[in-house]
Amino acid sequence: MLSQIKHYIFDMDGVLWHGDTALPNLPELFETLRRLQIPHVFATNNASKTPDEYVAKFGRMGVPIHPHQVMTSALATAHHLARNHDPNNTKIYMIGKIGLRQALENKGFHVLDRADYKTPAQIVVVGFNQSSIYEDFACATIHIRQHGAKFVGCNPDVTFPSERGLVPGNGSQLALITAATDQEPEIIGKPYPTMFYTALDMLGPQASGNNTLMVGDRLNTDIAGAATADIKTLLVLSGITQPADLAASSLQPDIVMANITELLQKIKALHNL
Ligand SMILES: [Mg+2]
Repeated sequence: MLSQIKHYIFDMDGVLWHGDTALPNLPELFETLRRLQIPHVFATNNASKTPDEYVAKFGRMGVPIHPHQVMTSALATAHHLARNHDPNNTKIYMIGKIGLRQALENKGFHVLDRADYKTPAQIVVVGFNQSSIYEDFACATIHIRQHGAKFVGCNPDVTFPSERGLVPGNGSQLALITAATDQEPEIIGKPYPTMFYTALDMLGPQASGNNTLMVGDRLNTDIAGAATADIKTLLVLSGITQPADLAASSLQPDIVMANITELLQKIKALHNL
């Protein structure tokens, strides 16, 4: 099955590193993929960081990558919206950080500020912002309720881990707006398939579900989303999913491996390296 794979999509945390600690053989895996000229991209639900911040993180771990290889849920959202709406005629109100603003503005969208709440936005995009205040949600509600704006969320993650334990994530901010507007958002990030279709686009015209492998550590996001998008799946057991979770799950990946070291060994064996 690995022999038919010509492109890779990687989740990062739990697959390539844990927080700021690289997992074993990280540089060698990507050296090998580069040497074999196998295109690969990185997909994250995090909408707050820019691709350059990921390039810097990979660099600290000894892996040179290009910003165009990084697909955040913010970039996937901007890419998806630009495909379906003319940026020159679409105003967006956003809740989010620099990563989302940059992604939308780079596509040519006009991003409205809080003070512009009387100018109708056609789309409200909600990424994640820990510094959001009541006014941000008030403006989003006004655009959706009074101006009929479409409601879009970068990712559905209701919580995320912090040093203090689980704290509210973007999904919780979406839930607040849903409560205020009676509207459900269209969601772009994992486990929804849009992010994976966007990753295939980034990989180029040769990439298809049959020759592309999603490598992730979460069954309910990485594996479920890629499977919905008809992309082949590899679950690594170096992150969130434990063998017992996998045994109990009705959703099964195409391949299971312990970690990226096993993947590296199999790729090398396949190419006689
Ligand atoms: Mg992960």
